[in-house]
Amino acid sequence: MSPPTPRILKMALDTPLAIEFDYRWRPESADDPNPTVGQLAQVPFGRREVIGLITAIHESSDHAPEKIRDITAIRYQLPALSAHWIALSRFAAEYYQRPLGEVVLPCLPKNLRALKSTALDSALKKVTAPESPTKSEPSSVPQLNQDQQVAVDAITAVSSYSTTLLFGVTGSGKTEVYLRSAQKILERERQQGGRAQVLILVPEINLTPQLENSVRARFPELNVVSLHSQLSEGERTRSWLSAHLGSADIVLGTRLAVLASMPDLKLIVVDEEHDPSYKQQEGLRYSARDLAIWRARDLNIPVVLGSATPSMESWHHAESGRYRKLVLTQRAAAQAVLPNISLIDMERIKASEGLAPPLIAALRERLARGEQSLLFLNRRGYAPVVHCDACGWISNCQRCTAFMVLHKPERRLRCHHCSFELKIPASCPTCGNVDLQPLGRGTQRIEEYLHTLFPEARVLRIDADSTRKKGSAQAAFETVHRGEVDILLGTQMVAKGHDFQRLTLVGVINPDTALFSHDYRAGERLFAQLMQVAGRAGRAGQMSKSEVLVQTRYAQHPLYRALLGHDFPGFASATLEERRSAGLPPYVFQALLRAESKTLTNALEFLQQARALLPHPGIVINDPVPMTMTRVAGVERAQLLLESNARATLQNFLKLWVQELRKHPSRLRWTLEVDPIDI
Ligand code: ADP
Ligand code: ZN
Ligand code: ZN
Repeated sequence: MSPPTPRILKMALDTPLAIEFDYRWRPESADDPNPTVGQLAQVPFGRREVIGLITAIHESSDHAPEKIRDITAIRYQLPALSAHWIALSRFAAEYYQRPLGEVVLPCLPKNLRALKSTALDSALKKVTAPESPTKSEPSSVPQLNQDQQVAVDAITAVSSYSTTLLFGVTGSGKTEVYLRSAQKILERERQQGGRAQVLILVPEINLTPQLENSVRARFPELNVVSLHSQLSEGERTRSWLSAHLGSADIVLGTRLAVLASMPDLKLIVVDEEHDPSYKQQEGLRYSARDLAIWRARDLNIPVVLGSATPSMESWHHAESGRYRKLVLTQRAAAQAVLPNISLIDMERIKASEGLAPPLIAALRERLARGEQSLLFLNRRGYAPVVHCDACGWISNCQRCTAFMVLHKPERRLRCHHCSFELKIPASCPTCGNVDLQPLGRGTQRIEEYLHTLFPEARVLRIDADSTRKKGSAQAAFETVHRGEVDILLGTQMVAKGHDFQRLTLVGVINPDTALFSHDYRAGERLFAQLMQVAGRAGRAGQMSKSEVLVQTRYAQHPLYRALLGHDFPGFASATLEERRSAGLPPYVFQALLRAESKTLTNALEFLQQARALLPHPGIVINDPVPMTMTRVAGVERAQLLLESNARATLQNFLKLWVQELRKHPSRLRWTLEVDPIDI
């Protein structure tokens, strides 16, 4: 073996500069190991020392030798990240127009990026130590129904790349399909003497601990780790290392887990693939679903997207044959059937305190029978605004284009967009009138009314306000599962994948606002939310037929007509037709440049200049406009929308454009978002 010679290492560092930096490595002795691509190393950067990732190794550099600094140390104890992992990060960086270093380093646990390696070293010891084998028996395994069997067979038929859209109504047993497919693939690879890992992505782990429980219970002999932002640094380091060292068989995580290093990855599952929380809204603004598909293709492995209400993007690809569509048509559990959905026409029926008499009667029936009810109202607080009848004063936030929301238990007015809050004023700040009126209804106000209506009922409210403390959401849901709650009331937090066993009534209060949103995706989101919340009812074969009552003023609206028939395909094809004729995604590709400034004029001017920077054939750049919520926390915001019929055209332009934008440093903050989901 030839003795190691000095090398030039290309390094990705966590800086806003979109370049990789050259450093020199020289062996101290002949038996120093050679560095390899994918290792982490400590290097001097300015006056600091930082940890970076080795992305390439060269014999020489384009820079003058005296300009190149030496590597301080290489983290030999950590096995290198794979070429596939670097390729994934590089793709994410390029596609979402961020420097590679800002992608690869922030996604590593802090302990790996720390200059002191003590935490890393002790975590490495714990992770590589043999696990004590668990003796518990796996949970009982249900016999697959025919739809499920067909799905598992199709997903596992070949081990090469395919994207499958698993479209299954709520409660149709998608989880069982994921688990069985995972099991089959893990077993098969191991029988062939290979190694295998499975990645399961979920929208929000805290809200759906059930999936984690089912996975752990089903595979007591496997090493299942979770990866999400609520873990402590120590836990996150251990989970990440288990995945990276191949000792984790199954990684269950939120969007950030799509970038986990998994050298033996053989299957990716994206549960509730339509969920907006797969899109990161700051820093690297990526879609974890889209990266999962790219990753599967790069690794030549199957990826499964599961949903009862797929995104329009995925549905479109499934209809056009790019993805394979598999359908689970029925609820899986014995005797469980989909609930009956009906509308309460609020144009004709007068509500008392926001609840229509038929809904109140239905609640009363459930109480009498000892069954649970769920009320869904996507608005927290007591009332969205406070108003003075005498002079017209209204509780505007001083710093945002938004109202201050009344929070009665806390006796405060609170802005949900900045942290600003005030004591409830005793009288009108303008005219002194002491009779200020709350307008509209939030969960707290409905809760108050439920207590007067049904004094004996056990009412529980679950929303962001009632679950601020760590662990309190989980504790609240456990109360519901134990059957200690008669009426559960909440925001979208209660709509997600919970399997409430005694729930036979779902009431939806005031969902109409989304019908008239400026955001073209609002309808799609509302439909998904309503299907999801409706899906909480009647999950186990129940003593009585379960029902969903939706209070609306627009009973004839096509969205509600589709909802009545549980008709997602009908809703989707109508929606896609609208998108096609309006020239909206998935038929066009978009990017959004946003600017923030003290004055709106500055923000708009910056965007106007950005628009004129480069010729842009094949791309429409719209006029800069103020964002719908123009001011947040005293900052004015405007945006510029770019559209193209071809993804590649848009990508090529963005690359050049971002280089130009970076060349013209401006005082204001700007961000670029590719495939934005909130416009
Ligand atoms: P989804 O994720 O599609 O909403 P789940 O996977 O949560 O549905 O399944 C709903 C319920 O059906 C769960 O209680 C699950 O244990 C049960 N289940 C799933 N598959 C079967 C089956 N083949 N036979 C009986 N029960 C099943
Ligand atoms: Zn007044
Ligand atoms: Zn505010």
